[in-house]
Amino acid sequence: NSEDEQAEDYLFKIVLIGDSAVGKSNLLARFARDEFYPNSKSTIGVEFQTQKLNIDGKEIKAQIWDTAGQERFRAVTSAYYRGAVGALLVYDISRHQTFDSVGRWLNELHTHSDMNVITVLVGNKSDLKDAREVSPAEGKTLAEAQGLFFMETSALDSSNVAAAFQTVVKEIYGVLK
Ligand code: GDP
Ligand code: MG
Repeated sequence: NSEDEQAEDYLFKIVLIGDSAVGKSNLLARFARDEFYPNSKSTIGVEFQTQKLNIDGKEIKAQIWDTAGQERFRAVTSAYYRGAVGALLVYDISRHQTFDSVGRWLNELHTHSDMNVITVLVGNKSDLKDAREVSPAEGKTLAEAQGLFFMETSALDSSNVAAAFQTVVKEIYGVLK
């Protein structure tokens, strides 16, 4: 019955990674609280937020970790990655240098967590159409080469934000069952 199903608890740790100011904290704020901070400081990051998602009728808790800005100093610790089963690797489509960092973030992820961590490559700030420096094709090609899922999002206008988090949770669940 439904009570038994409720008792079956899924808790997935998912980490947000990527260069400073790509929009990690705002993606989480938009997803968890439907909020956006136009001039956010790195200090808005909390350690993690837990969100309930429904996948195939199962209630799944996603524990989503955000940095407190330590990525600026390339000082994300192994504790941050420990136990992660999913990751959103975020770059900013209006700053190519943040896309150039993706390989370094992948190395770091694979050094500190399981090689099989489900990863979605996220090109954020898709609303900044006139400032675009990374094409969707470029993002898609890299994702395919690295075995990642791919999505462009905007924390500002909300597009694809829930879809990005749902994708990672759904794919993790798919591996488990
Ligand atoms: P983080 O350092 O990766 O956590 O980045 P933040 O979430 O703090 O965002 C950095 C800056 O980018 C802030 O000024 C945000 O308002 C802005 N920002 C975040 N997401 C978007 C987006 O989707 N579109 C636009 N135009 N700005 C964004
Ligand atoms: Mg942040």
